[in-house]
Amino acid sequence: MTAPVRGIFFDVDFTLIYPGPTFQAEGYSSFCAKHRIDIDRSRFSAAVAGASAILDEEQDHVYTADIFVRYTRRVIEGMGGRGETLDACAREIYDEWAACGHFFLYEDVAPALRELAARGFTLGLISNSHRCLVSFQQHFELTGLIASAVSSAEHGYMKPHPSIFEAALAQAGVSARESLMVGDSMAHDIEGARRAGMRGVLVHRSGPPLPEVHGVPVVTNLGELLKIVQEPQPLGLLSPEALSPGADQP
Ligand SMILES: [Mg+2]
Repeated sequence: MTAPVRGIFFDVDFTLIYPGPTFQAEGYSSFCAKHRIDIDRSRFSAAVAGASAILDEEQDHVYTADIFVRYTRRVIEGMGGRGETLDACAREIYDEWAACGHFFLYEDVAPALRELAARGFTLGLISNSHRCLVSFQQHFELTGLIASAVSSAEHGYMKPHPSIFEAALAQAGVSARESLMVGDSMAHDIEGARRAGMRGVLVHRSGPPLPEVHGVPVVTNLGELLKIVQEPQPLGLLSPEALSPGADQP
């Protein structure tokens, strides 16, 4: 029997916010120029795709800046960057990722969160970043809507480790079985939620439509969440046991 939904938890990066030009090809060009690194900015998209495997590496999910600095370094190298200043440049880009001013809120986010909070749902944030989530709520004018916010840098473990989900649930005062995790990563958000006993909703904002993935409902914007959580026996909100243990990002 599926419990009614009371708690709704959100991933942050690429679920609520997206990076501006600082973290596109032009931004990388500026960082690299400052560190006297020559790159071919036309290779940015391929370099990002090539580096993404680092974020999915098998690991113990203890938070460390190293994995993100190595990812950023790999992006630079993918654009042809070489030299002794690579690590310093990658570290600076990683540090700047924490600054809210480099990001934009997707336009559906504030209306959807206000609506869900007004209807009595308990909302939370679970983020694999070193961004201050109090500053995040202030910067994007979401203060007052969020009951619980846990970042991996503060908590110590990263998604998909169950510990970070359990910490957010405890802080919000809701149980796993009555809570949803909403995020753009099947491997980190949805699979992690499953391990913690929560259900998941995948956010798929662009690309070919996905009706559902491994029984997990898919939304293209957060305005679609209300309909999902209000269904008495939500179609597709399968129990954790029904999810494929090997589910990965589509
Ligand atoms: Mg994300």
